[in-house]
Amino acid sequence: MSNRVFLNEQQNGTVQYMEKKKRFYLILIIGIVCLFSLQSCSSYSFGVIADCQYCKEAGKGVRKYAKSDTKLAECVSHLNTLDLAYTIHLGDFIDRDWESFDVVTPIYNRLNMPHYHVLGNHDFSVVDEKKSAVIKKMEMPNDYYDFEVKGWRFIVLNGNDISFHAYPKDSENYKLAVEYYTQNKLDNPKWNGALGVTQLNWLKAVLEKATKNEEQVVLYCHFPVYPENRHNLWNAKEVIDIIEDYPCVKAYINGHNHEGNYGQKNGVHYLTMKGMVDTEESAYGVIKVNKEYLIIEGYGRELNRTLQLRKSASILK
Ligand SMILES: [Zn+2]
Repeated sequence: MSNRVFLNEQQNGTVQYMEKKKRFYLILIIGIVCLFSLQSCSSYSFGVIADCQYCKEAGKGVRKYAKSDTKLAECVSHLNTLDLAYTIHLGDFIDRDWESFDVVTPIYNRLNMPHYHVLGNHDFSVVDEKKSAVIKKMEMPNDYYDFEVKGWRFIVLNGNDISFHAYPKDSENYKLAVEYYTQNKLDNPKWNGALGVTQLNWLKAVLEKATKNEEQVVLYCHFPVYPENRHNLWNAKEVIDIIEDYPCVKAYINGHNHEGNYGQKNGVHYLTMKGMVDTEESAYGVIKVNKEYLIIEGYGRELNRTLQLRKSASILK
C-alpha cells in the first residue's frame, strides 16, 4: 500500500515536471511569435505615383499624355498584387479638361487598398466654374489632410493654397495670389504656389501632436521644397524651417518636377518622384518603411534608393 503511495508521489512529481516544461516551451513559443509579429507590424509598404497627367491629346516631345491611362492601368494591376497599406498619387492626375478625370479615376479606384490624392497645379486646368469642384471630383476629404498607419503620420499638403491656377480669375483668392506674388517679389514660375498661413498653422499643430504621440512623419506635397529648383513652392524656405523644428519628420515626398530629384538637409530626405507621363516608359515606386529606413523600390524609370532615418528626439533621450 505504502509502496503504491510512494510510486504515485513519484509519478505526480514527474507529471508536475512535465507540466512545468510544457508551460516553459509554450511561453517561449508565444514570446517568439509576439516578437515576430511586432517586427512585421513596424514594417510595411505603400505605393507612390506622381504626375499621371492624363489627357486625350497625344502630347509633344517627352510628354505622352494619352498613354497615361494605359500606364496607370498597368501600375494599378501590379500594385494590386502586392501587400500595400495604401497608395498615393502626388498630384497632376490630369493634364487638363474636366472629362479627363472620368477616364483615370475609375482606373485608380480599381486599387484594392486605401488610395489617396495630393492636389497638383494641372488638376485645376479645368474651366473656372469647375475649379471649386475639383476636390470633390478627386474624392478627397479636404484640400489638405493627414492619416496614420502603424505609428507613422502621413501629412498631405496643398501647394495650390495660394496660386493663380486654383481659383477663378475674378475671385478674391486669385487677387490674393497676385498680391502675394507681387509683394514677395517672386521670380519663381507662376505655375507653382504656396501654403497659406492657416495651412501652415495646421501643419505645426499636426507636427506637435505627432511629436507628443511619438509618431514618425512623412510629408506629401505636389511641389518640391528642396533642393533649390524652379519647381519649388513659393514659400519653400518657410516650410523647411517648420519641418526642421520637428525631428519626427523623416521625409518630404513630392512630384511636379518630372525628372525626379533628391536631396538631404539636416536629416530630412527630400524626394521628388519621376513623372509617370514622361516617355513611353512608366515610373512609380513602392516604399517600404521600417524603424531605420525608407526603402524605395523603383519601377520603370524610377530609381531604387535606401534612405536612413534620422533619430526622433524621444529616441535620442
Ligand atoms: Zn505639376
